[in-house]
Amino acid sequence: MHAADDIRGWLIDLDGTLVCGGRAMPGAHAFLEACAGRFVVVSNDAEHTPAELAGDLQRLGLAVPANRIVLAGAVALDEIAARRPGARVLVLASEALACHAGEHGLRPVRTRPDVVFLGRDRRFSHQRLALAANAVRAGAELVVANPDLVHPGPGGAVVPETGALLAALLACTGPVDYRLIGKPEPTLFAAGLALLGLPKRAVAMLGDNPRTDGEGAHRFGLRYVEIAAGVFPQAQSEVARPCETGVMALPA
Ligand SMILES: [Mg+2]
Repeated sequence: MHAADDIRGWLIDLDGTLVCGGRAMPGAHAFLEACAGRFVVVSNDAEHTPAELAGDLQRLGLAVPANRIVLAGAVALDEIAARRPGARVLVLASEALACHAGEHGLRPVRTRPDVVFLGRDRRFSHQRLALAANAVRAGAELVVANPDLVHPGPGGAVVPETGALLAALLACTGPVDYRLIGKPEPTLFAAGLALLGLPKRAVAMLGDNPRTDGEGAHRFGLRYVEIAAGVFPQAQSEVARPCETGVMALPA
């Protein structure tokens, strides 16, 4: 393992790391300030555009420009647009992501799609499920923003995520191949690293989820630093010390 003092840039998870329950985590603002721009937010968010999220974070007091935000939903659509320019796409996601698809040359459609894109679709319905399932059965490519089943909501409730909708879709189609974009897959890590412009050995992933942030970082070849009890590591290199498990915490 590399010494922590050679971390020169950070990929930072969003939910549970920078924000929680619609609030900035204590210490998030100070950590970003200390990073001095050497960070990229990398999230499995499958609902918002980077510009939307930058505005939301600004309102929470976190200054993160849109060009420093890598989100699974938007990246998935960018990747479809690059690979299949002008493709007809059934977008099962927010209106904002449907607009994002159109702005990148894709054609959002309801019938005869080339690609079914599945994000966190709050308008998911029997009808939309039928459209998607039958399109996939007819040969449309399936692209899924992230595999997350739920995320924590207020008062211990669970909020269904993209993976839960995928389970419903696969229940209708039977086993089919699909392309997965979000963590722990490598796509978002690669996009974030490219924005940092640093070698892998100089970058660490900061997150709260060992299954997505941790496993993904490990598979991609990045160090993983887990938020320990909501405590941020020191971005200043000389104070940070990794412990045996790779979880970084500061002395009390
Ligand atoms: Mg998280």
